[in-house]
Amino acid sequence: NQCVCRVLSIQSHVVRGYVGNKSATFPLQVLGFEVDSINSVQFSNHTGYAHWKGQVLTAEELNVLYEGIKLNKVNHYDYILTGYSRDTSFLEMVVDIIQELKKANPSLVYVCDPVMGDQGAMVSTIQLLRIYCINLYSHYMVRLDSTHFSLLTGRKINTEDDAFKVMDLLHKMGPETVVLTSTDLPSKHGDQFLVALGSQKIVKPDGTSTSQKICMDIPKVDAVFVGTGDLFAALLLAWTHHHPKDLKAACEKTVSVMHHVIKRTITYANEMAGPGKRPSPAQLELRMVQSKADIENPAIVIEAKVL
Ligand code: ADP
Ligand code: PLP
Repeated sequence: NQCVCRVLSIQSHVVRGYVGNKSATFPLQVLGFEVDSINSVQFSNHTGYAHWKGQVLTAEELNVLYEGIKLNKVNHYDYILTGYSRDTSFLEMVVDIIQELKKANPSLVYVCDPVMGDQGAMVSTIQLLRIYCINLYSHYMVRLDSTHFSLLTGRKINTEDDAFKVMDLLHKMGPETVVLTSTDLPSKHGDQFLVALGSQKIVKPDGTSTSQKICMDIPKVDAVFVGTGDLFAALLLAWTHHHPKDLKAACEKTVSVMHHVIKRTITYANEMAGPGKRPSPAQLELRMVQSKADIENPAIVIEAKVL
């Protein structure tokens, strides 16, 4: 469709490599979205390298940037996407901005990827998330890995049933779509697979609600990738936009793109590292630009099972 879809993305910037905005902007643009980015930090590279340097945007500086946008009356967004946030005051400012954007566009969708800094910051971020889950959003989507899922819900997931019960609780708190991108649940295909789960609230004509629940078995690659969570959140935003009532289709496309990018990345990284050597963080940077065709039109290689 021809309508301009505009995303405000508040995430990290890195000079070298792909995390945060660097991981989200390219795929969103390739998929036709206008992306307005605010860099919550500007670092030389991600924090998994031996060295990293850079600056952090303060809550006040974030507000100044938003004020500029607002003064020009261009603060109209369809989506807001947030990731890595270091401190509570920054996150509180993000919440204020979301509230304003929501006034300007009541159907604004908030895509929340609660990556968090150190342990102390994590707890307060979780508390804040709880507050805004409950109070603010009907149009809201969240991506979680197992650690953040446990932190946010205060529960450890031992079975698939547990996970879906907790996802139902999350729906009651606000988010219509919840995707758990990694769990420690055993896969039916063996230990070379990781299980991801998704749940999307569906309101029936009589006003009652149910949910579409899906499960995916993702082949594991033996390496640590960084920026994959951020890429996942951006792709999920894009594909749920194109398939708003079909979480199965949206997740199959999202996870299939992930698979293509990760395959390309590990093949290249192993080649660079040489036989028997483990690739370095620099060698493991996502092969983003090289994956343009897969991002645009992914071959579906991972199917989601509707439960
Ligand atoms: P985070 O990076 O925030 O911890 P996850 O670990 O859940 O997030 O990873 C997000 C997604 O990235 C996974 O659902 C999967 O699609 C992909 N991914 C990340 N690491 C791997 C890996 N080692 N092998 C295969 N897929 C991976
Ligand atoms: N932002 C910065 C600056 C980081 O250093 C990292 C991880 O090291 C991330 C974001 C998160 O990346 P991921 O998508 O792998 O969770």
